Amino acid sequence: MLSSDAVVVVTGGGRGIGRAVSMLAAGRGYKVCLSYVSDAGAAAKVVAAIETAGGAAVAVRCDVADEADVVALFEAADRLGTVTALVNNAGVVDLPARVSEMSAARLHRMMATNVVGSVLCAREAVRRMSTRSGGRGGAIVNVSSIAARLGGAGQFVDYAASKGAIDSFTVGLAREVAGEGIRVNAVAPGIIDTEIHASGGTPDKAAALGPTVPMRRAGTAEEIAGPVLWLLSDEAAYTTGAILDVSGGR
Ligand code: NAP
Repeated sequence: MLSSDAVVVVTGGGRGIGRAVSMLAAGRGYKVCLSYVSDAGAAAKVVAAIETAGGAAVAVRCDVADEADVVALFEAADRLGTVTALVNNAGVVDLPARVSEMSAARLHRMMATNVVGSVLCAREAVRRMSTRSGGRGGAIVNVSSIAARLGGAGQFVDYAASKGAIDSFTVGLAREVAGEGIRVNAVAPGIIDTEIHASGGTPDKAAALGPTVPMRRAGTAEEIAGPVLWLLSDEAAYTTGAILDVSGGR
């Protein structure tokens, strides 16, 4: 049973999968602290939609790669209630490239956002949730990708490697805090129809690759949000360290 002051922190909650997670979490009774890094308007619309539906939400600008921003994000969450859930969703891709063409700047941005950002947010969450430090426990869901096992050859090996790191982090953190009331899991989406593909220079990717998926279509952000909320819920009380493919069979 969700307590009335339970807060979920959703990074990158203004658009795409994060938006769908924020909306569904609010519908399930969470107060939602969602972050954005550049699109304040999209985040404000999610907050307005949640409030119109009778929920509570706040949007906070936060570059997850910036430690001070992450600390401030969780301080904002504390003002909303008790942080019992984190969805590490914020992530970036880059233009298709071979490894032999990748700049150090590209690699640093990819790893700083997708890996360091997720670990920093998890650090703040664990500090609050752990029964070792007086917390009442909680759950973390990391948004990985099936790219972690496909590898992204010729296009985005750096992105795939960042998600491979997320998978290892999920297993390791899950075991580290399993005795402290905290569960840590990941969802690994396949091709999902969001704006991330445009930011990677391939705006039609979901439509183009959809027919190659065993289920013959790309997924929707809402089809990721459902499994995320399940992993956060008490229905998944004995599930930790799991990486759940949500990929239409791919
Ligand atoms: P999206 O529509 O491009 O949204 C990305 C979100 O991340 C945005 O809300 C963005 O904030 C936020 N963000 C980006 N850089 C950030 C930073 N440095 N600090 C904080 N927030 C940042 O992407 P999406 O498709 O929903 O992807 C969400 C997650 O799912 C990512 O981790 C992605 O790798 C993963 N995923 C997606 C797919 C897919 O096919 N779509 C497949 C597998 C995995 P602003 O709104 O402010 O720009």
